[in-house]
Amino acid sequence: MESFPELKPSARILLGPGPSNVHPRVLKAMISPVVGHLDPDFSKLMDDIKRQLRIVFRTSNEITFPVSGTGSAAMEAAMANLIEDGDDAVIGVNGVFGGRLVEMAERLGAKVHKVEAEWGRVIELDRIEAALKAAMKPKVLAIVHAETSTGAYQPAIGEIARLAHDRGAMLILDAVTSLGCVPVEVDQWQVDICYSCTQKGIGAPPGLGPITFSERAMQAVRARKTRCRSWYLDVTNIEHYWGPERLYHHTAPISMNYALYEALRIVIEEGLEPRWARHLANARALQAGLVAMGLELTAQEGHRLPQLTAVRIPAGIDDAKVRNELLARFNMEIGAGLGPFKGKVWRIGLMGESSRRENVMLVLNALEEILGSMGIEIARGRALSAADLAYAQHAPNTDKPR
Ligand code: PLP
Repeated sequence: MESFPELKPSARILLGPGPSNVHPRVLKAMISPVVGHLDPDFSKLMDDIKRQLRIVFRTSNEITFPVSGTGSAAMEAAMANLIEDGDDAVIGVNGVFGGRLVEMAERLGAKVHKVEAEWGRVIELDRIEAALKAAMKPKVLAIVHAETSTGAYQPAIGEIARLAHDRGAMLILDAVTSLGCVPVEVDQWQVDICYSCTQKGIGAPPGLGPITFSERAMQAVRARKTRCRSWYLDVTNIEHYWGPERLYHHTAPISMNYALYEALRIVIEEGLEPRWARHLANARALQAGLVAMGLELTAQEGHRLPQLTAVRIPAGIDDAKVRNELLARFNMEIGAGLGPFKGKVWRIGLMGESSRRENVMLVLNALEEILGSMGIEIARGRALSAADLAYAQHAPNTDKPR
């Protein structure tokens, strides 16, 4: 009989686009005994998770729950529940994930109207307004809040929702890389469907896709002429399991829900505002350090994400070699570029548990050392001084207690 070695994954410092590091309390929650998906203990946990998610999404939406699947499953749930054959869908595209929304909308039979912006730039409001107008009777406007492939931070979501509603469309907001890192104000901005993931700002492993539907979105779902194309993601089925009836729909991933519960407990203990401030302070220091090293940030100035910084790879430097050295010598992962940014940018994430001052200093020091050894002229220590200065200038609480 073939035998297999014991599982021994390395404990990495995760500074890529997600997953981010997971708090030991969350890992501990995952080894709790598995109960049935209709057990009264699990039923109580489901109610608590829904309440926690409403706090984090800043919403009172009744239909708020974690989709059993990663962020892409939540994305597909948002799109599949609203879109019917022939519907007009306006979609912002300035990176990989806007492109994924387009692909889903096309597969669902929508007539897609893209509003494009150059990679790294955000989508301008007047272009969104013009596209909504050109679409005549748009059903959906979908946009990515934090474009993980470029580091661009889409502003004015409340304004965008107003533009959508003025034309009778629903706003779907992709908050996969924003929830738990920067403000996401579902009710205040009047977002109709907002979805996220567990493995970035929330600080759990990948596996669930938190989602929330406004009353207006649910009315549109209930007014569909045809059934949702996806059986698994049809919210009118799932609501009977996550709602008070607790009717079996699928076997919920029990241990992942334990993880989400504990991760959300940690988010709520820290407080959303202090958490956002921590992400911002650590990002300012990282970005100041990278610039001091002579590197160029790729996202549009004034619209850079705190939780994900895309940085141009200096000419003549081998992308994979640097990432491999970071992994081998510093036990640290950063992200490669996607699509047209492949081989051209690195993506450094400081999300959730990973957004810590010590990680900022470590990655700057490691990059100085590796790039210096590859012939890039870098004054050693300059990036760390710039980061220190940024901390001194804006400095709330940048490290979380362990
Ligand atoms: N949307 C955005 C903005 C993302 O960054 C990602 C993944 O990184 C997704 C959607 C898809 O999420 P997942 O990889 O969890 O399926």
